[in-house]
Amino acid sequence: MDKIPFLTREKAEEIAARYPTPFHVYDEKGIRQKARDVREAFAWNPGFREYFAVKATPNPFLIKILQEYGCGTDCSSLSELMLSDAIGLKGHEIMFTSNDTPAEEFRYAAQIGAIINFDDISHIDFYEREVGPLPDTVCCRYNPGGIYELANGIMDNPGDSKYGMTHAQIIEAYRILKEKRVKHFGIHAFLCSNTVTNDYYPTLARTLFTLVAEISKELGIRFDFINLSGGVGIPYSPDQTPNDIMAIGQGVHRVYDEVLVPAGMDQIAIYTEMGRFMMGPHGGLVTRAIHAKHTYKNYIGVDACAANLMRPAMYGAYHHITVLGKEDAPLTEVYDVTGALCENNDKFAIDRKLPAIENGDLLFIHDTGAHGFSMGYNYNARLWSSEILLKEDGSFELIRRAQTPRDYFATFDCFDILDGMNWEAGR
Ligand SMILES: *Cc1c(COP(=O)(O)O)cnc(C)c1O
Repeated sequence: MDKIPFLTREKAEEIAARYPTPFHVYDEKGIRQKARDVREAFAWNPGFREYFAVKATPNPFLIKILQEYGCGTDCSSLSELMLSDAIGLKGHEIMFTSNDTPAEEFRYAAQIGAIINFDDISHIDFYEREVGPLPDTVCCRYNPGGIYELANGIMDNPGDSKYGMTHAQIIEAYRILKEKRVKHFGIHAFLCSNTVTNDYYPTLARTLFTLVAEISKELGIRFDFINLSGGVGIPYSPDQTPNDIMAIGQGVHRVYDEVLVPAGMDQIAIYTEMGRFMMGPHGGLVTRAIHAKHTYKNYIGVDACAANLMRPAMYGAYHHITVLGKEDAPLTEVYDVTGALCENNDKFAIDRKLPAIENGDLLFIHDTGAHGFSMGYNYNARLWSSEILLKEDGSFELIRRAQTPRDYFATFDCFDILDGMNWEAGR
């Protein structure tokens, strides 16, 4: 199935006339539809909530759209907590799933009443010592170790991951928490990333539901919620079949009825923390071809670089590319599509079949709506791009301006080096 951009060349040029390339653009219509679909898929569970993983797309304008559909946020740092508080999320609408957590972050999370998810058993002591009495509600993060394998062969390696507590530790943690008069309990696990299968959540649900039944019986505690976290993936490549969130929701429902209901636990809320699935397909990076270079290979140089989208450079991740206005042109060329960083891995595509590209063409790099802009960095003193929201009525709005040299140098503001800076450079 071919991947079709959610905007045309004409619309991209119209945006570029106001806000120069490169820019990340987000599709409001797609985001709203996704939020409705997820809500519907889990409507069977009265307490269900999606906590959008802020790190995927930390833009308040986009997260406020999800908020309209009842989504909260999942945070892992102080700034993410601040952002959630600033857009009006309250108390248990915020989940704090961190690891290697500094005391001041626990302190702020407690202050705003976020649900605290402990990554390690030692954090119980740390919290009491550094922050104060434990909150009424506490969640713990589980790591079963070993290899986690789904029926369809997808595997991940929890035994090699730094997150969560072992089976013995998590039971001990709940025992301690009960002794310390914590009243409400939750459990969380994130075992596979970017799964393109409808089996992941139901399989994970069985693991967690079974464990919750075991712990409840052994310790005589009741769980309020089970957090399936993130990991529901998207088809980055055109030959993959997208996940069907209705089938995923029904799969979790079946396991709920099979494991929890007979154990008398039919009041437990299901939480999710999807980032990629919610937003990934609804963002794209628009960049202009500015150079064609022919040496031992054919290169197309664009005005975006890995500082704007790191996944290909970091993981060799595939991002589909459409040359806007040449959607139906034959794929006659083979190119490496490169950015300007002095790093040979700064390539958005390697040996990619594409239509013939001329300087000035706009390229749409698909699926940058999650873990795209947010992973940006400033290597080579390259600056972050703007972010644009394409609205349902076809109009568009700037939702984050591009970084300027002044922003880049702002952390030198206590030194007089800034006095000698030519702020008009390049204009
Ligand atoms: C990154 C992360 C998520 C979101 O993961 P996706 O792959 O975007 O679904 C959810 N929960 C936690 C704790 C995370 O670290």
